[in-house]
Amino acid sequence: MVLKLYNTLTKTKEEFKPINPGKVGMYVCGPTVYDHCHLGHGRGYVSMDVIRRYLEYSGYEVRYIMNYTDVGHLVDDGEIGEDKIQKKAQAERIDPMEVVEKYIESAEEDFQALNIKPAIFNPRPTQYITQIINFVEKLIEKEFAYESNGSVYFSVEKFPAYGKLSGRKTDELESGARVEINPEKKNPLDFALWIKADQNHLLKWPSPWSVGYPGWHIECSVMSYDLLGQDTFDIHGGGNENIFPHNENEVAQSEAYLGKKMANYWLLWSMVNIDGSKMSKSKNNHTSIKDILQRYDPMVMRLWILSSHYRSVMDYTPSALEQAKSNLQKISAWVANLKNIQSRDAINRISTGDEIDFVHIYERRFEEAMDDDLNTPLALAVIYELISETNKFLSEENLSAATAENILKFWEKINKVLGLVMSEEILTLPEEVVALAEERKAARHNKDFQASDELRATIEKAGYTIEDLKDNNYKITKK
Ligand SMILES: [Zn+2]
Repeated sequence: MVLKLYNTLTKTKEEFKPINPGKVGMYVCGPTVYDHCHLGHGRGYVSMDVIRRYLEYSGYEVRYIMNYTDVGHLVDDGEIGEDKIQKKAQAERIDPMEVVEKYIESAEEDFQALNIKPAIFNPRPTQYITQIINFVEKLIEKEFAYESNGSVYFSVEKFPAYGKLSGRKTDELESGARVEINPEKKNPLDFALWIKADQNHLLKWPSPWSVGYPGWHIECSVMSYDLLGQDTFDIHGGGNENIFPHNENEVAQSEAYLGKKMANYWLLWSMVNIDGSKMSKSKNNHTSIKDILQRYDPMVMRLWILSSHYRSVMDYTPSALEQAKSNLQKISAWVANLKNIQSRDAINRISTGDEIDFVHIYERRFEEAMDDDLNTPLALAVIYELISETNKFLSEENLSAATAENILKFWEKINKVLGLVMSEEILTLPEEVVALAEERKAARHNKDFQASDELRATIEKAGYTIEDLKDNNYKITKK
């Protein structure tokens, strides 16, 4: 059994070899906490969770770190303009750190619902200002960075390997139209490590160069260095929409600092489209995890995510969710049937068939699929095949309790990787109930409380309870 991972750094599938036997250090770029997590985040963090779980299944102890960006990520991902968190704080008329706390809480609610195992640490750049300043000082000392008018920039031409992760060439980048003109920079491709704050900027700290704040990319270099052994680490995960400039700049900063590789394997997930087009706030198709969880059991969403390979672009459509719902119901019924047979025998001591040992074949096939760069769609196909085979025996009443028990043990083992929490009843809402709830949401938004109360009564009559949550969100449960 050899685990192979597609490494974006080398653009090939490589055998996974940890730096320290039996241990894996893994750092994943986390969300900037200025809004609720969207579908792309859900997809990414479920994928990384399954990778972590499969490494644990394979016997590794995984030190999993995911940051929350709480400063320095500017609107348009550039170096000029407003901080996303400050902008939101002004819009909501609250303190920037209240924005941060609010959306970290929201993200953790989503991750818990999706059964994503918590990271060992969730570092935040505001807690790492001293380390960031020290790191930047060392980069200046090593002549990879320079100070200019109170800000500090990384000098791209001092790092000839720049572009190796994203595959972009510096000369092409230089002639690119999107390079912003900033007279403080020696080269237009240089990027900020420290930014001098203007008077209106709320989140700022003293430094040897100016009262300012860290650039967006430096935090991941500093926090991974601090929490994963101050050396090269095993796996860096993230979303491939951030490969440039964010991840590329991380590589440059860390490798300049360390004098060697930052991470051995780069695992990047692909994005989620909505009905074939890119999700964006301006297109008004920005779907949050919470939007989906209002309508579907979180495990439907988790199974839907696992039904695509983490490196292929996913398309969110209602029918894809419906398909996942029906597959989840199939798994759930299968598990219930197996439990039934197992317990029936425990009471009556009757076997309805001979013990059949076919589980190990499925186990091998499941592992082969997962070893091939975490091919979860294929791994699920193996399970669905096992379900069909088991159901055939069940319909012939030819499945012994011992066999049922073996299959259940196998399921429990591999489900530690899939992470599906099987409830007795998978709650999925009828379309008409969702339509009523949406209508009620609009009524509440327009402060039409009479209509809202009437709609609540109709929903209750249909057999559901509706609970109001923050930001005019809601949760529906079956009575
Ligand atoms: Zn990052």
